[in-house]
Amino acid sequence: MATRTRRPRHCTYCPEPGADVCVRSQRDEEGGAHIYAHRACAEARGKIPLYVFTEEQPTGVAP
Ligand SMILES: [Zn+2]
Repeated sequence: MATRTRRPRHCTYCPEPGADVCVRSQRDEEGGAHIYAHRACAEARGKIPLYVFTEEQPTGVAP
């Protein structure tokens, strides 16, 4: 059913899809996975995002 090329990112703090920031990346020996979250979820827990995804924002200010 899914035909989108982008896979949904799951938030590590809540069950909602569409995480838009990365809050942690595992070391290679841990699997090298990147842990994603919503920006609001991360901020609510005092996490500083490692990086932010911008391609999924429908609107935004011009660069
Ligand atoms: Zn969340």
